[in-house]
Amino acid sequence: MSELEGLEFGKSDFVLLDEVTMEQFMENLKLRFEKGRIYTYIGEVVVSVNPYRQMDIYGKDTIDAYRGRELYENPPHLYAVSDAAYKAMKRRAKDSCIVISGESGAGKTEASKYIMQYIAAITNPCQRAEVESVKNVLLKSNCVLEAFGNAKTNRNDNSSRFGKYMDINFNFNGDPTGGHINNYLLEKVRGGGQDDREDSTPEQTGNLHRSKKLYLLRGGSPEILESLHLQNDPAVYAYTKEGATSNNDRSSHKAVMSALEVIGFSKEEVYSIYQIIASILLLGNIQFESDGESVQILGLEAVNHISELTATDPESICKSLLYRTVATGGGEVIEKGHTEQDACFGRDAFAKALYERLFGWIVARINSVIEVKDYNPVLHGKNTVIGVLDIYGFEIFDNNSFEQFCINYCNEKLQQLFIELILRQEQDEYERESITWQHIEYFNNQIIVDLVEQPHKGIISILDEACLTVGKVTDMVCLDSMDTKLAQHPHYTSRKLSPSDKTMDFKKHFRIRHYAGDVTYSVEGFLDKNKDLLFQDFKRLMYNSANPVLKEMWPDGQLSITEVTKRPLTAATLFKNSIVALVDKLSCKEPYYVRCIKPNEGKSPVLFDDARCQHQVAYLGLLENVRVRRAGFAYRQLYSRFLQRYKMTYEYTWPNHLMSSDREAVEAIITHHGFQDDVAYGNTKLFVRTPRSLFTLEQERAA
Ligand code: ATP
Ligand code: MG
Repeated sequence: MSELEGLEFGKSDFVLLDEVTMEQFMENLKLRFEKGRIYTYIGEVVVSVNPYRQMDIYGKDTIDAYRGRELYENPPHLYAVSDAAYKAMKRRAKDSCIVISGESGAGKTEASKYIMQYIAAITNPCQRAEVESVKNVLLKSNCVLEAFGNAKTNRNDNSSRFGKYMDINFNFNGDPTGGHINNYLLEKVRGGGQDDREDSTPEQTGNLHRSKKLYLLRGGSPEILESLHLQNDPAVYAYTKEGATSNNDRSSHKAVMSALEVIGFSKEEVYSIYQIIASILLLGNIQFESDGESVQILGLEAVNHISELTATDPESICKSLLYRTVATGGGEVIEKGHTEQDACFGRDAFAKALYERLFGWIVARINSVIEVKDYNPVLHGKNTVIGVLDIYGFEIFDNNSFEQFCINYCNEKLQQLFIELILRQEQDEYERESITWQHIEYFNNQIIVDLVEQPHKGIISILDEACLTVGKVTDMVCLDSMDTKLAQHPHYTSRKLSPSDKTMDFKKHFRIRHYAGDVTYSVEGFLDKNKDLLFQDFKRLMYNSANPVLKEMWPDGQLSITEVTKRPLTAATLFKNSIVALVDKLSCKEPYYVRCIKPNEGKSPVLFDDARCQHQVAYLGLLENVRVRRAGFAYRQLYSRFLQRYKMTYEYTWPNHLMSSDREAVEAIITHHGFQDDVAYGNTKLFVRTPRSLFTLEQERAA
């Protein structure tokens, strides 16, 4: 509990609620939001509500107030957990991580930026030039990633289309020495439901059209645009014509260009980025025409321009767009003409892949700059890390597809880690303080994680099997297979097994009972999205580019069709592997959590939409979190600090006590108030089971 706020702002820690009910939780959350208190704790977890307005709580004064202080000394703030993570790292040489979750527009990315700014502000007090330059690059990397990885959506004007995990490395002085960024599935896995019309477009281009690469169009100089064969009008391009309009594209473009320069991208590299983006835009405008027998490209001008921009020859481009090289069973290599539909599919898949590889390359390029080099642990001491994870939260829409399936699986994994780590932390603290551990009841969601990821039996395995099967396996066949294999699973429901359930469509739905609630998924498109097919011809085309940057992005293009025997891993399996690796990374760190809530759909700073907020509180598992936290002891405090706060409630401790230790003095206060059955005495801290005792003390204090 923070000590500087009065109760008129509600309770600054949810563990202090009289009862852990949704009603009380929501009442407190709303009261605090309305009073401009956007942060509230659950123990060490920060619950944050997006204020949708500039708050005067991030300036230098605030940073100074939080620097080096304990969590409870100030009102709840991101800075307090950032400082806690930093202290764990610096004082105890513990790697720590800050996990930020919440739905689109809830404020995750903003939070991650404030956290990074705080860390940048409190480090390197001597202003050493090399540390300043590392910090600068780390901060600038956000700007570049946002420029290429964010897009305007119905939910958020600046929505991250990728999950990001960033490690910041520190030396023994506690100064940043470098970092590393991991990104999790750009685009593919950010989608939406019915309530987000644009996001739910099933076609391959996904959200390409709203990407921030529009900066280029509106921000680039006329000469550059001309050299790229582009027009300064997004409406001309199929992939951008529905794009957002923004007046500050020019200034944003400048900021991105300057950030690229600071990070160390060469002029050639920046121009290659331009060329690739221009190629994507031009590619989107290529049309096909079929005379019933063969398919032709309409508009060879675009092909010629792409050829120039990608340093490939125009005939090869045409061939990749119209034909597919396949190896027959007998080992013969033949060229198979596309149908018009296949050609469109191929074109869009190619555009999407170009964009994904470009983003991946940019991340890798930033990593090569910020990676810690020449670190000698003997000379420099332990290299410690703070990781910051900004990742999409649980998604439940009216229409849930493959994207939601992946995101929700990721959240199951993170929830499991969360419970495990929070419980472990509690247990560690009890042991440190020599307090008897009490078993805490909680829902273990391993069973749901298994439902999704178990080898051979889980949903991902069943999907992969269907994708590998030769012949026409449809989404429906795959659904049948899931229904048969998972019929007995307590967290899986198929419409076939519950025919009376009118909320499920017999033809396409299955339902998973997630820890955060039931989600009904439509299997439509699952197989295509999981295969994420890109014809080898395109990969080879790019690998053969005379532009070294492009070539570097497509190493798998060097394989000829007869060498491509192994099936590439599916999208779901790749995603699973990256999430398993992420969880491994996080699980050995001391975790801090920020749970973000979006107060309303209209980006309004004054509206607290009860139903929407309650929904988020439920699926973020916040009540469960409070319960776990309170199952043992709701409140704990160092004896000295407890005394400082409550010594005036007892005549023998005010203004000073004459007992032999602070602990004894605290015992005297507790006994005086009759709370002895509600507390336990640790080695350095007092543990209070129920918050009620504390309220009485607070009231006495105020009296
Ligand atoms: P997505 O999952 O779509 O990337 P997100 O959770 O990262 O969403 P943000 O981009 O961080 O959401 O926040 C959305 C918008 O909300 C911001 O552009 C900003 O206008 C506003 N916002 C978020 N946090 C704050 C804050 N602490 N103070 C002021 N405005 C904020
Ligand atoms: Mg974001």
